[in-house]
Amino acid sequence: MAMNSRQEEERMQRRLESLYREAQGWAATWGLSRLMRDVDLEFSDAMGSALGRCDLRTGLVSLNGVLLLDGNEELLRETLCHELAHIVASVRYGPRIAEHGVEWSEYMARAGFVPRPVIAASLVVGLRP
Ligand SMILES: [Zn+2]
Repeated sequence: MAMNSRQEEERMQRRLESLYREAQGWAATWGLSRLMRDVDLEFSDAMGSALGRCDLRTGLVSLNGVLLLDGNEELLRETLCHELAHIVASVRYGPRIAEHGVEWSEYMARAGFVPRPVIAASLVVGLRP
């Protein structure tokens, strides 16, 4: 049975809340519990093939709207963690470290992900390669 728009909205709200709670867990693991207070999340349908992006100056994390499609749940978690790891690495080590260097990789690993700088578009539901 198809969900009506209100059910769909509530489902989305619950997903975002659980994602946010998980992000707070990673932040605690990284020893930066206040991280999510300084981060804003947005979903955008104008990101081309990029899955995520973060603005280190403003703390805005933009995630590709395709990540909300069924089948992309794990990639949504990984992409959010990927961007947050950039922010934490920059807070801790400054702007001169390599973008996907050892510091960033270490934060991804501590959050339980195999660090991979790039995810092939073919692995993403709804993203044209
Ligand atoms: Zn990156």
